[in-house]
Amino acid sequence: MYSNSPEDPHFVDEATPLDATVDIAPETGFGLHDGSWSEDQWRELIVSFVENDLASWRELAALILGHLNPSQTGTSLASSEGFKRRYGKGNTMRIVMDWAYAQTGRCEDCDSRLELQADHVEGRELFDDPLEADYIENMTLRCRRCNVVRRPSHELGGQTFLTAESALMWILLVIKPRTFLDFVRLCRIYGMTMADVRMQEAWAMAHWLSRNDPPLYGIEDDENTSYDLLQWPTGTITRTDSGAAIPDHAERLYQNVRGDHSFAFLVIGEDKRKKLFNYPVSWIAFSTYDLGEMPPYALAVRYTPPDRKNGRAQRVTPMPPASLEMVSHAMVAPNEKIMLERTDSLLVGDRTAVPVVNHNGKLLPAKLQTYDLRVVVERI
Ligand SMILES: [Zn+2]
Repeated sequence: MYSNSPEDPHFVDEATPLDATVDIAPETGFGLHDGSWSEDQWRELIVSFVENDLASWRELAALILGHLNPSQTGTSLASSEGFKRRYGKGNTMRIVMDWAYAQTGRCEDCDSRLELQADHVEGRELFDDPLEADYIENMTLRCRRCNVVRRPSHELGGQTFLTAESALMWILLVIKPRTFLDFVRLCRIYGMTMADVRMQEAWAMAHWLSRNDPPLYGIEDDENTSYDLLQWPTGTITRTDSGAAIPDHAERLYQNVRGDHSFAFLVIGEDKRKKLFNYPVSWIAFSTYDLGEMPPYALAVRYTPPDRKNGRAQRVTPMPPASLEMVSHAMVAPNEKIMLERTDSLLVGDRTAVPVVNHNGKLLPAKLQTYDLRVVVERI
């Protein structure tokens, strides 16, 4: 019974957003807590890789040896058109290598010895003729990461030590997200702006390790597991393991709900209009992770990808009902449908079926906006 005709009482004005805007800016989540890790913690991580057979000492040594080799310093300059033009083909390699040998062998910005590359002090974009930037006094050594994060396209780069590709694995192996969705949310609040497909690729590691004998990773079996739903002072809803201790400041909203159910709730937005949401339980973020400085419910976010064409950064916003007034809620089993019941009506059981709603929520039609309502369920 859902249509988009304005005459229909179930008409939903999708053009009018009802978004809670609270500041969980990406930068508050930077690094989660890898940025404050000690050398001991990094050492323990590497030792655990070896103990769990993720990599052998020999492989790790080979990896480091490969990255110590400054292969991107000499030949990359010597083969550049600007250098050949300035110094003449026959002289370039000698000039470049004299320069390379005279360097400290550390990254100009972060002091690393790994993955060093020759980089311009004054970038090519500052010269009318980009090849004019190619002279030996204008070169310095930077590691690959520091070189990359200087590019304008890396708006959020350089705020943690890890590159995005390393951080994907750090989040996966250290925070251990239980669902792919939580993995993506972790990456977003960390500040990663790349496409979801990069996280899909990285998630393959979770599958591989989960099939190891013994399993080295746990992927949540939502459909066959029960959870408790928690509500936080911000209004945020998260899930935790059934019967787990309730963290400080949280309240248990539902106990022992199955992962194949959904959580329907009615909110009143800042503009005083009512909106109905329906979250599959399997979609609700866990609050069981160690997020360092961030609160345990920090993962309950939605995000919009960055719009590079129009220069808009990604937006990470708290998931309703955070910061909204929740008027009513109910758990919905797979064989049940959501109904809205008037609580201001003298007619007992004055109910309206509502169109299918999802996690983006639907504004209630104008007529229903005027009623006092609660969410109820009926068997299909
Ligand atoms: Zn560096």
